[in-house]
Amino acid sequence: MIIVMQPDAGADQIEAVEAKIRAHGLAVHVSRGTERTLIGAIGDERTLEPEMFDPMPGVEKSMHIVKQYKMVAREWHKANTVIDVAGIPIGGSTVQVIAGPCSVETMPQMEAAAAGARAGGARLMRGGAFKPRTSPYAFQGRGVEGLEMLRSSADAHGLPIVTELMDVRMLETFLQYDVDVIQIGTRNMQNFDLLKEVGRIKKPVILKRGMSATINEWLMAAEYIAAGGNHNIIFCERGIRTFETAYRNVLDVTAIPVLKRETHLPVIVDPSHAGGKAWMVPALSCAAVAAGADGLLIEIHPNPCEALCDADQALTPAEFATLMEKLGAIARAIGRDI
Ligand code: PEP
Ligand code: MN
Repeated sequence: MIIVMQPDAGADQIEAVEAKIRAHGLAVHVSRGTERTLIGAIGDERTLEPEMFDPMPGVEKSMHIVKQYKMVAREWHKANTVIDVAGIPIGGSTVQVIAGPCSVETMPQMEAAAAGARAGGARLMRGGAFKPRTSPYAFQGRGVEGLEMLRSSADAHGLPIVTELMDVRMLETFLQYDVDVIQIGTRNMQNFDLLKEVGRIKKPVILKRGMSATINEWLMAAEYIAAGGNHNIIFCERGIRTFETAYRNVLDVTAIPVLKRETHLPVIVDPSHAGGKAWMVPALSCAAVAAGADGLLIEIHPNPCEALCDADQALTPAEFATLMEKLGAIARAIGRDI
């Protein structure tokens, strides 16, 4: 960390900053320029925060010089991490597609969705049993019964399952149902206690981007999980909030190459929650694969008009199968497969 002193900072103020750095176990390097003094903190500066120094008399500003994330950073781990989800590699040369309904509703719906996901070429199945809804009066999900339906319909087609964990009290139940990938939704990206809990286990985690989170905040959220010992983290870009109202969210395609540069962990894209309309899903999926996404999370429903949640953005199984063919061509054009 570097602390820049004000031009008129006195010797006592400089010494106070030096003392604070030493008190945290770091060494000090002082550089006296013609106009101002710069104080460098030498050592693991992750224990220091700018707010420790900014209010001190004589300090103009202070800043980190290294990134605050470490375990998730490519700087520390050059090779791509490939995460094994029940035998399906995520982050390797194959673009993995996860498909399924927004929410688990009924057994016939889940059977048809699983069959459609499998037939279209998805390698994993999604389905929300616990739904984060804006309105408390809206359908909240089938709960544990939903986990049961997801597990059995997906098992029948050999698909590992992905589902959202909202409440840490359900973690044990998720483990009992052997949920293959735990999804942390956009609204919980910075629920640090939840992140710490999924950090304690080894199950792969899909960490969705908070709807207004910066890339740095997102990486730091992942660092919470990694710091607990769970390095099986998959980033999922799902669109961010902007001033635009013509679609649900803006798919931040730029985030894909930026994240691939910053982290060794896999990056997938959810085109369904980004656009919010089924007709936008193919274009956004193509863009995501072309930009280097390691996978897609796509909502499909056997009868979208009847869906209890996100009806307007679900593809039918037939639309999904058509899209998968197109995505195959894009993946091959960039040296991958799907
Ligand atoms: C979902 O995947 O069903 C979901 C609620 O997504 P998000 O957290 O991105 O809104
Ligand atoms: Mn949804």
